[in-house]
Amino acid sequence: MDIIKKYITNNPCYQQAKTIVPKGIIVHSMGVPQPDEDVIFNNFNKSTAKSAVHAIVGKNKVYQIMPWTYRPWGCGSGEKGSGNDSYIQFEICEPSGFKYGSGSHMIGYDAKKQQSYFDCVWENAINLAVYLCEEYKLSPNSIICHSEAFLKGIASNHGDVMHWFPKHERNMDDFRKAVANKLSYIPTAPINQKSDVKWLQERLNKANPSYTIPVDGKYGPKTRIAVLMFAESKGWDWSKKTGYSVGQGTINSLINIK
Ligand SMILES: [Zn+2]
Repeated sequence: MDIIKKYITNNPCYQQAKTIVPKGIIVHSMGVPQPDEDVIFNNFNKSTAKSAVHAIVGKNKVYQIMPWTYRPWGCGSGEKGSGNDSYIQFEICEPSGFKYGSGSHMIGYDAKKQQSYFDCVWENAINLAVYLCEEYKLSPNSIICHSEAFLKGIASNHGDVMHWFPKHERNMDDFRKAVANKLSYIPTAPINQKSDVKWLQERLNKANPSYTIPVDGKYGPKTRIAVLMFAESKGWDWSKKTGYSVGQGTINSLINIK
């Protein structure tokens, strides 16, 4: 997952440029059947916009639309204050092919048909949350959705994302667990097979941000070069090694990259 930085410079919240110290993450979904990340971006990037979040998570793209430490206009407020003062917030785009009735009731939502879309945005949202947890030293337990933020008294009364996730038999506990699993994940065997290549690519990108490789799970030439560059940066002699696989020593070094 690549995070594409594209700021909503026309948005009045962005222009205020107030800052926060992130203490957690609030997950939203848009509440409109609109999967096009660019349409959502354009709606946020208006001088008349009344809300602003840090990122838009779609099936194909993840846009970072404000610096992570800008104060968002994401969740409103409740009797105990506002999550906007301390939470990084992102919106997940919902698919098309259904309608909204009153409130957050989805009419004609075919969960079976939407499953592959859901799986994509679920994975993108988890990857973004993992990135943010690592970046700001946040616990997976600090991740809540808008409806949970309302119950905590720090947000307006919205149903997202729990009006949607359960249609795919998922809830926020599943989300937090998936993030925690990914954060603590350590490959148990040398990496040369498909299952761990994404982990390797994410770690290599962290190790060397100036040589970004696509996180596609394929052990191609770019990944191989990144492995060799990592070995070289460590001062290891890799002259006899091909870079086609990664052993336990390299894995251990990659784990320690923050
Ligand atoms: Zn929301």
